[in-house]
Amino acid sequence: MGLKKYREKRDFVKTPEPPESGKKRTDGGLIYVIQKHDASRLHYDLRLEENGVLTSWAVPKIPPLKEGEKRLAVRTEDHPIGYAGFEGAIPEGAYGAGTVEIWDHGTYDPVEMTAEKKIVNIHGGKLDGRYALIKLKPRGKEKDVNWLFFKTK
Ligand code: MN
Repeated sequence: MGLKKYREKRDFVKTPEPPESGKKRTDGGLIYVIQKHDASRLHYDLRLEENGVLTSWAVPKIPPLKEGEKRLAVRTEDHPIGYAGFEGAIPEGAYGAGTVEIWDHGTYDPVEMTAEKKIVNIHGGKLDGRYALIKLKPRGKEKDVNWLFFKTK
């Protein structure tokens, strides 16, 4: 997807969010982070480092901690790698206005990564173990952005 949408949605004069950063991690492990975003509607932004960006989903409910808990995860625009450390207040009038705090973070190991399916071993503080993200087929007028996020064996 790249970072075009990320840039288009934001005015970096208004928001404290990081602009595109080419900074690449050199230490081991792919980034896993969930940011709690208290915007017009509270949600949890799940991000996984993939191909030099953070592939991102907005999870409207608390992320699944145990097997059997299934969550909707709405695919959102890719974010720059530097966003993984971002916490702060996005001011009124800016895109995504509200507070962002890191809810969980760590690394992940990819098991299977396709356009419709991500199977990952997450090593976080709250989330730990194998997780699946499965893209749902849009029904009717639904947008092509809905995924299912759950813990698996
Ligand atoms: Mn968000």
